Amino acid sequence: MHNKVWSRVLWVYRREKMLGNDRLDFRRARETLRDHSGLSGNIEEKVTMKEIDELKSEMDGCRKCTIAKLRHHAVFGEGNLKAPLLFVGEAPGETEDLTGRPFVGRAGKKLREIFAAIGLKEDDFYITNIIKCRPPNNRNPEPSEISNCAKYLDAQIKFMGPKVICALGSFAACRMTGSDLPIGKMRGKAFKTDGAAIIPTYHPSFILRNPAMERFLKDDLELVIRTLKGT
Ligand code: SF4
Repeated sequence: MHNKVWSRVLWVYRREKMLGNDRLDFRRARETLRDHSGLSGNIEEKVTMKEIDELKSEMDGCRKCTIAKLRHHAVFGEGNLKAPLLFVGEAPGETEDLTGRPFVGRAGKKLREIFAAIGLKEDDFYITNIIKCRPPNNRNPEPSEISNCAKYLDAQIKFMGPKVICALGSFAACRMTGSDLPIGKMRGKAFKTDGAAIIPTYHPSFILRNPAMERFLKDDLELVIRTLKGT
């Protein structure tokens, strides 16, 4: 098999293992690769705006996970779907659940403050999460929730074809890279794929709890900008 294909199969294999799919073997990873969209599938295959709108409506009524019972809103994402930069966080928090908008709570405000400081404007990116419903008490997303919700994020990635995906926090970083390294070991680097460069960094809620780490988040966002510019 071609090296590029093998590297994608390996990526899917690792990701599915991370999602708790212990029965996956390389043959099934290949099938998953064929069936999935977004980074894990055929990135050349296009998703139309109509399909994105349909998926958004589908998500509004989605009850695949038990957490759907507790939500006020599922949060699809916000921003410019034609931008070359995608931010992916973990899950909506309380304010996001109440408003239906991503990254509008305290952590989101912190992130947007840093964006403004480094010159990133709202139109420069799209921002979403790996799961679209809020887990109770902001607990970590379950592997089954990440897996159930993959179709929405995969379609967003496929539609955008972003040049850079910045993964905010360890769950997003694992989901996007397929690696299970701690976020402290993944951040500060650009992971090259056939499609986007993936740049993991700290989640802004971690920065709120650890203000001394803000400089690392800024450094990583500057790496995002340099990677976008190809410098
Ligand atoms: S987290 Fe995603 S898959 Fe699960 S119910 Fe919400 S929208 Fe559906």
